[in-house]
Amino acid sequence: MTAYDPDNIFAKILRDEIPSTRVFEDDETLAFMDIMPRADGHLLVIPKTPCRNVLDASPDQLAAVIRTVQKLGRAVMTAFDADGVTVQQFNEAAGGQEVFHLHFHVLPRHEDVSLRPPGKMGDFDVIAEHAEKIRAALS
Ligand code: AMP
Repeated sequence: MTAYDPDNIFAKILRDEIPSTRVFEDDETLAFMDIMPRADGHLLVIPKTPCRNVLDASPDQLAAVIRTVQKLGRAVMTAFDADGVTVQQFNEAAGGQEVFHLHFHVLPRHEDVSLRPPGKMGDFDVIAEHAEKIRAALS
């Protein structure tokens, strides 16, 4: 498998070299808003330590990330009065992965509302408002 690239965009977010809208972090994980949200409240959860995806992650990295996915999944249910949550995760380009630092998508869902198409940049102010709702639900 290809080696981890320390200059991938999420590694730069972890080092604060590029901006992100953070909603939660602990010693092992970070959650921040997706800039191309496919649903209101779409966020990403990543480990703070390097790995490309599920295929090279350690059991400890996976355990830490899934703990945070559950925490944020519950928070978005509250924040958006959601009916459910979709958790997505892709491995390698053929598996749909575009950024090669392990991440899980957390997407609040409502009955009969489809996900928006991928690849459309969100409005920064709206994303910031959604992030604030998630932080409030966590507190
Ligand atoms: P994938 O690797 O297919 O799971 O997709 C990567 C995800 O990262 C997409 O949903 C992008 O919208 C998102 N993304 C890419 N760059 C950034 C960024 N700088 N900040 C937040 N999300 C990003």
